[in-house]
Amino acid sequence: AKHKGKSAFAHFAPEMTEVSHERLQMESRMRRALELQEFELYYQPIVRTDTGNLHGVEALLRWNNPTMGMVMPDRFIPLAEETGLIIPIGEWVIEEACRAAVSWRDMAGRDIGISVNVSPRQFRDPGFTNVVMNALKRTGLSPQLLELEITERLILDNSIETAEILRQLDHAGIKLSVDDFGTGYSALSYLKSYPFDTLKIDKSFVQDLMKNPEDASLVRAIINMAHSLGLSVIAEGVEEEAQTHFLKHEGCDFSQGYFYSRPQPEADFERWLKTNHRV
Ligand code: C2E
Ligand code: CA
Ligand code: CA
Ligand code: CA
Repeated sequence: AKHKGKSAFAHFAPEMTEVSHERLQMESRMRRALELQEFELYYQPIVRTDTGNLHGVEALLRWNNPTMGMVMPDRFIPLAEETGLIIPIGEWVIEEACRAAVSWRDMAGRDIGISVNVSPRQFRDPGFTNVVMNALKRTGLSPQLLELEITERLILDNSIETAEILRQLDHAGIKLSVDDFGTGYSALSYLKSYPFDTLKIDKSFVQDLMKNPEDASLVRAIINMAHSLGLSVIAEGVEEEAQTHFLKHEGCDFSQGYFYSRPQPEADFERWLKTNHRV
């Protein structure tokens, strides 16, 4: 048995080294990415479902690395979470997104809200509320125009600290939304005790809406429940016109997805903003 164990180890060792080498390399690149200005925010419109008019914008992080090319958030955010690098990166995201929203106010001739994703590690950092308040102060964005998207997973922890931070942010006038709603397998009771404004229906429910009657029922039920709790609803991942008819019929307040626009770099979004008549 001893011999077998040894050879099994010998067999796995090179792979493990390779994986951890890759991780270490990515981590050291990520450590330098902020000062090398390799991060960029893409912006995706959130529209009113009934009119198609612009409601707000979600900021989505991209990492342009000279060797790795464009790295999508699903590939680097988990490592950024583990290493704690998400804290300085997230701070940059919030300030950059606020700055962009202020600049669009002049272009569009009216206020445009900005939604920013917040990861659990970032949210639980003791400096988090200060980071948010400082970003608002430095950019001059009014708190009502900033919406923080928090995943259902984070709320699951049920801690007093989480409740307290949410309360502080709400008190400051900042909007709060539950991201990926429906994927967290959580009890729904948190919805009545926490100060959320919006539910974002995860795209996994929206994607097969027209093919799968169960998904259609779930989306309908989420919309009705949210409204009866006084929350507004955003459907994410809307790709087809048929989905927009369904969502309109069911009274879903807002929609977001490739059908309306893909996430775009700032300059492209601004062009979209200037030429779009339904702002
Ligand atoms: P999310 O918050 O659920 O964001 C929605 C994702 O769906 C985005 O992927 C967006 O590009 C994509 N999407 C939008 N419309 C459609 C559509 O019609 N069809 C399909 N199939 N996809 C659509 P992205 O940009 O790759 O971001 C992935 C995840 O990474 C986000 O999921 C979010 O959890 C996280 N993330 C992105 N930016 C940040 C950030 O600044 N901070 C943190 N902590 N997480 C971020
Ligand atoms: Ca989101
Ligand atoms: Ca509120
Ligand atoms: Ca989602």
